[in-house]
This record gives sequence, C-alpha cells and structure tokens, in this order.
Amino acid sequence: MKTAEILKKEKLTKEDLLYLMNIEDPEDLNLIYKKAYEIKEREIGKKVFYRGLIEFSNNCIKDCNYCGIRRSSKGVDRFFMEKNDVLESAKWIYENNYGSLVLQSGERQDEEFTLFVEEVVKEIKQLSNGELGITLSLGEQSRETYKRWFDAGAHRYLLRVETSNEELYKRIHPQDGKHNFENRIRSLKDLRDIGYQVGTGVMIGLPGQSNEDLVEDILFYEKMDVDMIGMGPYIISDETPMGEEYRGSVISKEKRVSLGLKMIALSRLYLKDINIAATTALQGLDPLGREKGLKAGANVLMPVTTKDEYRAKYQLYNDKPCIDDTAEQCKGCLAGRVKSVGDEIAYGEWGDSPHYFKRKNKL
Ligand code: SAH
Repeated sequence: MKTAEILKKEKLTKEDLLYLMNIEDPEDLNLIYKKAYEIKEREIGKKVFYRGLIEFSNNCIKDCNYCGIRRSSKGVDRFFMEKNDVLESAKWIYENNYGSLVLQSGERQDEEFTLFVEEVVKEIKQLSNGELGITLSLGEQSRETYKRWFDAGAHRYLLRVETSNEELYKRIHPQDGKHNFENRIRSLKDLRDIGYQVGTGVMIGLPGQSNEDLVEDILFYEKMDVDMIGMGPYIISDETPMGEEYRGSVISKEKRVSLGLKMIALSRLYLKDINIAATTALQGLDPLGREKGLKAGANVLMPVTTKDEYRAKYQLYNDKPCIDDTAEQCKGCLAGRVKSVGDEIAYGEWGDSPHYFKRKNKL
C-alpha cells in the first residue's frame, strides 16, 4: 500500500527514496519499475539512444582497488590501439548510424596521450562531417586538458564518482596521494564549467555500502545537476586487492542486480529528464540485465564496438560479457533486445538528455 502511495507523488523525499530502496517484495518492485518506465516514456519517449563504445587502451596510471586494469595488475596484456584502428571503429559506428560514440581507456595524463585524444577527436569529427556525437571517459585530467578535448569537438564526459560516501571512497582507492575524492569533485565541476554535458555514476553493491549510501548517491546526482548517469553493480575482479579480500563475501548476484535496477528506477523517478544507461556490468551478472535496465527506466545503451582483438584485454571485472562477439553481432543482438522491451532505437540521433536542454536554456 505504502509503495503505491509514494509512487503517486511527483517529488519524492529522501525518506521515500530510502523506503523504496529497502523494498524486496517482487510485486512492489514491479510497481516501482513500471512507474519509472512511465516517467521515462513521458519525459523521453519509448526510445533508446546508442553510444558505440571504443575501449582503446588498458594502460593506466591509477591503482583503484576494484579494477582489473589497475596499474599494479600483473596479468594484464597491455595494449594501446593505433590511431587508424580507433578511426576505423568510429567509421563503423558512423556508417551504422549509431549517432554517438564513447572513447574510453585507462587513465593517462601525459602530453603524448592528451595529444592522441585531441587528434582522434578532431579526426572523428572530420570523418563524420561533424555528425557523430563524442563522449569521453578518460578519468581525471587537468582543467586545461579537459578544455583542449572540448575545443577539439568532444561534448560529453563521463566520470563516475564511484561512491558519494567519502569514507567508502577512501576505502576502495589507495591512499597514495593520487586517488583523491576532492579531485574527483573538482574534475566534475571543471567539466561542467567548460561546457560539457556531464555524466557520473557509482558502483552498486560495494562491500560496506548501505542502502542509505545509495540514496545519498542519487541526491548527489541532483546536487551536481548532472545530465547523464552510468552506473552498475560491482563485480569482483580476481587479481585486485578487493577481489582478494571480498571474494565469497560480496552480496549475491541477484541482490546486486536488484539493487542496480532499483538505482536506475529511483534515479528516473527522482531526476526524471536525464539520460540513464543500462550498463554492460548489469548484463555481466544477469543475461537479461540490460533489458531489465531499460524496463526500469534506463534509455541509453553502450554497445561495445572495440575491435575483436582488443575486447578481451579490456577487462575491468571477471566474466565481461560479449568478449567473443564482433561489433556486427552486437548490433543484431542488441536490436532484438531493445525490441523485446517495446522500445525503439533512435538511430542517427545524438540523444542529449532533455535535462541538458532545459539547463542550457536557463543559462
Ligand atoms: N579510467 C576511466 C574509465 C575506465 S573505468 C575512469 O576511471 O573513469 C570505467 C568504470 O568502470 C569505473 O568508473 C568503474 O566504476 C567501473 N569499474 C571498474 N572496475 C569495476 C568492477 N570491478 N566492477 C564494476 N565496475 C567497475
């Protein structure tokens, strides 16, 4: 009863969010997902925006305790794609009318890297007659670097806060002076100032993370006035400090999937007009994870378009799905999945969130 009452409200309170976050009853959960889908349909339509994902390097200077490509991971076969390979993937994305792409890699902050990205962004703009939207997901950088990439033509940036709980953030990152919560927040603010559409997100089901923390994460999205959200369940990566410490003691897959879906649904109910991705990590824990994400209010998918020979090398966590597929296979497979939900793929559109346009008009 109470769930239905709360779902009638146009603006939820923090207490409402916490009440809904604690729900486990399947019928009540369905009510939440259904309402979130309605809001997505009202605000955005029955549409799914695509961003072709190019994971162009697993070299990384950071040492995040959860991540499979962290600097100290010994078993990783490191790669850095040739510029032409990146451009070829971009061309495939353009020709297949995906509308937008995401360039993602491990973090580097040296000039050679900065220049590489700057040139690649410019060349992607050229080869697509300015038509492809470009999102970057390349970690923490100086304001100058963010500005150079923006001027080159990138217009969206994804940088997850990972958790808005500073204590928890400290526990999942080494305290070596290079992993710093304030710097993450500074980066998000710089990105916004420069003019990017900014996306952030968290990992869900981290050891030591409470449902209240997750509610705080949603309030953090609101406070930062973000345009898009990409979040997904935490998945063990074996040869990492957290993989070793928590193997066997992380909450069950089912629970993490359910929390992940609740986070999508509650973010949609609370923030309404932003873009929310159904991420690969969700599918990593549940073969139908991405469809369920769309049903719970997500409206963005990021099909992996990384060339076949590199896919398996970019493993942030165990059992990454689709590593044996080609971009072509992913395209067909995902189209079927979107159709099964009753949504339509918005081919050829940049798919900026309505929130961004409203924010821009206010400026
Ligand atoms: N280096 C860039 C982009 C690559 S990492 C950056 O740091 O932003 C992209 C995201 O993968 C991270 O933000 C993190 O949230 C997620 N990730 C890394 N390891 C993970 C794991 N073990 N389980 C789930 N998500 C993980």
